[in-house]
Amino acid sequence: MLHIGCHLSSVKGFEHMGKEALGIKADTFQFFTRNPRGGKAKDIDPEDVKKFITLAEQNHFAKLVAHAPYTLNPCSAAEKVRNFAFMAMEDDMKRMEYIPGNYYNFHPGSHVGQGVEKGIELITELLNRIITPQQSTVILLETMAGKGSEIGGRFEELKAIIDGVEISDKIGVCMDTCHVSDAGYDIINDLDGVLEEFDRIVGLERLHALHINDSLNPAGSHKDRHAKIGEGHLGLDAITRFINHPELKGLPCILETPNDLDGYAREIEMLRAGYAAG
Ligand code: FE
Ligand code: FE
Ligand code: ZN
Repeated sequence: MLHIGCHLSSVKGFEHMGKEALGIKADTFQFFTRNPRGGKAKDIDPEDVKKFITLAEQNHFAKLVAHAPYTLNPCSAAEKVRNFAFMAMEDDMKRMEYIPGNYYNFHPGSHVGQGVEKGIELITELLNRIITPQQSTVILLETMAGKGSEIGGRFEELKAIIDGVEISDKIGVCMDTCHVSDAGYDIINDLDGVLEEFDRIVGLERLHALHINDSLNPAGSHKDRHAKIGEGHLGLDAITRFINHPELKGLPCILETPNDLDGYAREIEMLRAGYAAG
């Protein structure tokens, strides 16, 4: 069973997202926990969440992926910016408990000239302040394209963050096909090799979710520009092999391609058609 969905707007609430997902034959989705540019989060309506949870159970939804605002920078050089990341993520952890047992994905951050080591130290510090043993949410570090001073373009960097997190069972990874290719990992010609490397450095048991995007740029470009499935440098064949890889089967796949709902419906149909049963 291919668990697939796309990024949806959370403006109209959870039940609305659930229905939208069903309408495009998705059984999971991703949403921003708050305005992607930051700011105060809208209050969660417990009635809306209750309706969504019933709908998700009835339709056998896979785990959802919440996405932190991408403007958060846990390893900024400015204390004010780091404090904002802390407050937003701490608040998000409380909000996530309304929909227990799902994933919370974030971009590790940009070290803005402080160096990779310092960046990793700041990210780890922040995670250790946020994560509690009681939380049911698993936080995911997204594999990044390595644009500018972004941390998370190398598997070693993700591993170093994970190693620094004290409550280790609440931290994992979300692999983004566009980002990982842009970072220089050849998932077109050597997917086995890339996943072996990931396993050796991070451990495949840490990999909990996938972002499925084509890339406007060739491998190693460090650009992070998503393309529609089949319209970028990865291509439909490589992406189909990716979702069918035995080590990746069963993980929730989230499309973040430049599409409206109809476009997402077509991509989901296309990928479901290319997914081998069993
Ligand atoms: Fe992301
Ligand atoms: Fe992504
Ligand atoms: Zn991206």
